[in-house]
Amino acid sequence: MHYVVIDLEWNQPLSYMSSAYRKVGDRLIFELIQIGAVKLDEKRRLVGSFSCLVTPEHYLKLHPRIRRITGITQEDLADAPRFLEALDEFVRWCGEDCVLLTWGSDDVSVFQQNLDFFKAEHKLPPFYDLQRLYVALLEDNKEKKGLQAALAHFGIVPTDEHPFHNAVDDAYYTALVFQRFPDAQAVLQYPQTPRALGRAKPTPREQAQAVTVRSERAFFSSAAAKSVPCPICGRKGEVNEGYVPQRGLPTALADCPDHGLYFVSVRFERDQDNKLIAHRMTALSDEQSPAYVKTKHLQWAQKVKNHQAQEDSA
Ligand SMILES: [Zn+2]
Repeated sequence: MHYVVIDLEWNQPLSYMSSAYRKVGDRLIFELIQIGAVKLDEKRRLVGSFSCLVTPEHYLKLHPRIRRITGITQEDLADAPRFLEALDEFVRWCGEDCVLLTWGSDDVSVFQQNLDFFKAEHKLPPFYDLQRLYVALLEDNKEKKGLQAALAHFGIVPTDEHPFHNAVDDAYYTALVFQRFPDAQAVLQYPQTPRALGRAKPTPREQAQAVTVRSERAFFSSAAAKSVPCPICGRKGEVNEGYVPQRGLPTALADCPDHGLYFVSVRFERDQDNKLIAHRMTALSDEQSPAYVKTKHLQWAQKVKNHQAQEDSA
């Protein structure tokens, strides 16, 4: 029997507001872009390695964070095989009699999600978890269960030849840790079950903020009216066109570079001390396609113009 230590790299949606993400939702939250693996024989001697980039078919644009972490570029992926082709190669390379080993349950979960999403019919060897075995072996310091901590624990020093966050190199280091375990077969006590993946936290789509103002007119010429925080991240977006009444409330548009178009509406209210309060309410738009956003802004500029003309003639 062979042991195959596997490590994967994956891409993620550019934003949870992107149409690519919204089309599939949590059915594909991470898309594989690299399969890396090393093979060990029964005596845990390294006997081979496998590395294959995978061209993304759903999240076509590489997330900047992923590019930074992995060093993989959009160009690298352009000529790579698709997932099902890469999988063919990988399964063939694994051979008949082997088990797959990963560090923790992330890889197996992402792998399973990709298998399901792309309707793979390949029969894969069973997965086992080296991390759980490692934690079981640790007598104290059980919180230090990362791969880096395990390397340090065994005195394994990473070299420039094998940079981290390259799938095959991460698999290589994981294999070095595996070689130090007292009993190889013990890992078979830790079968893997993929967990369901989803967005970590649902992001709030609406926010409200109150500011004290002298008068309604003073509010609209203040910074509080002209730059308003994004409901998701709080970064300030400019109100370029201005406010027009919509469903009885002055409403404007703003944009966040990360989260896209949001609506800003204002409700005025007097508090107990008779101070005037402007409640700024922001809500992310459901529609974020560039064509829609552009049209919306043009439309808004026209509405503001019409509204001002009406005010002037009144
Ligand atoms: Zn934002």
